[in-house]
Amino acid sequence: MAIQTINPFNNLVVKTFDEMKPDAIESALSKAEKCFETWRKTSYLDRSTLLHKVAQLMRDKKDHLAKLITLEMGKLLAQSCGEIALSADIIDYYAIHGEHFLANQKLEPEFGSAYIKSSPIGVLLGVEPWNFPFYQVARFAAPNVMIGNVVLVKHASNVPQCAESIEELFREAGAPVGLYTNLFLSGSKISDLVADPRIKGVSLTGSETAGASLAAAAGKAVKKSVLELGGSDAFIVLEDADIDQAVAWAVIGRMNNTGQCCVASKRIIAVDAIADEFLKKFTSKLTGLIVGDPLDKDTQLGPLSSEGAAVQLADQVKRSVDAGAKIVLGGKRIDRPGAFIEATILTDIKPGIAAYHEELFGPVASFYRVKNEAEAIKLANDSPFGLGCSVFTSDTKRGERVADQIDTGMVFINHPTWTQPDLPFGGTKGSGYGRELSASGIEEFVNKKLIRTSELADPF
Ligand code: NAP
Repeated sequence: MAIQTINPFNNLVVKTFDEMKPDAIESALSKAEKCFETWRKTSYLDRSTLLHKVAQLMRDKKDHLAKLITLEMGKLLAQSCGEIALSADIIDYYAIHGEHFLANQKLEPEFGSAYIKSSPIGVLLGVEPWNFPFYQVARFAAPNVMIGNVVLVKHASNVPQCAESIEELFREAGAPVGLYTNLFLSGSKISDLVADPRIKGVSLTGSETAGASLAAAAGKAVKKSVLELGGSDAFIVLEDADIDQAVAWAVIGRMNNTGQCCVASKRIIAVDAIADEFLKKFTSKLTGLIVGDPLDKDTQLGPLSSEGAAVQLADQVKRSVDAGAKIVLGGKRIDRPGAFIEATILTDIKPGIAAYHEELFGPVASFYRVKNEAEAIKLANDSPFGLGCSVFTSDTKRGERVADQIDTGMVFINHPTWTQPDLPFGGTKGSGYGRELSASGIEEFVNKKLIRTSELADPF
């Protein structure tokens, strides 16, 4: 895949970047390794000071960085600004809490004394997706820099200017050479790097195909991996839910980032008693969204991230309809330049139909009608993915009982699956393994070293 900025609003190429040659990759690896030898010995205070500076620079340059996101992957500008603010918050969060999360853990052995010390493990490789070009990197880089690890980041090939600008933020904040390095390399070549002995762990956020390929390379080289993969979150609406609120949240849950969130509310599951009312209100909200330039503040439906993404989604809709799904709203490409597709609602989706099994990464909602709560849970769990889920009910205890029966990494009651720095994020099943964010996110690439002291005693 070419490393290029292509504006998805008009599909014009803005800028092309050269892939790194083997000597540049070698230099990046060797600088990273050298940096680790000193960075691992720096104090938490120094690491935290650097991260706070990165976060502040991000906030200072918010308007410029947000426009880059919108230019490269089409996110509505207000949402791009929100992403920059959230990314800065994540970086600050680890700068503030990292030392506490990594403090020695005292143990109580039967005799003598012991504790667990958290130590960095070395150079890490992060492979990141385009859908949240700053937020995803912040989730990976901030905790690891705080631990004392150093990072090489291979960003998605369609957001090279975002990728470069993150490296620049670290440089401007005073990061030592090699602490944060952007790698301009296409995805298909990245697995070859994993065997290099200087790389100690890998983390990938993206599709199942890419994740399986990188994790296989890591497994072969006996290296730890974290995989944050796709999802097809269920959004369950029970008969006692506040329907207007549930509809309003479903619109946000499905349409945020033009539907391109791993935790978007992709499968709406409504029980019979309220299904008609919900569908009518939901359809009315999605009808007539203002389509246009994502830089324009009035636009409500922008383009997808790329022409390829729009072609793929339109094909998934077509295959689903050919196999029996029905279209309640939309279903077609929008007749204008750019990677646009109509806000779409599909119904009558059965096992065997593409929309039932595949992740629909864009503004296409799958609507399911079920008899009752038990059927809703069964359908929610009948998915190869296990990332998030939401349950709408006026009885929060009931919501918790439902949540307990859902096979995903996260369940939100009366809210679409969401994210904030202090809540763990990650999935099960085909959605991957490991966690990012919160205290859990800082523990993935740490050597939890046992240090044991015994009384001096005669071994015999
Ligand atoms: P993708 O095609 O898998 O790309 C993700 C990253 O992997 C890119 O940097 C890509 O590089 C790289 N890549 C591609 N093929 C690879 C391979 N064979 N080996 C190693 N790396 C490879 O996914 P995407 O389309 O950018 O992102 C959307 C997917 O990410 C969706 O499934 C979404 O649900 C998931 N996602 C998950 C989370 C989560 O936290 N669970 C968060 C956000 C997104 P190139 O760009 O050079 O191909």
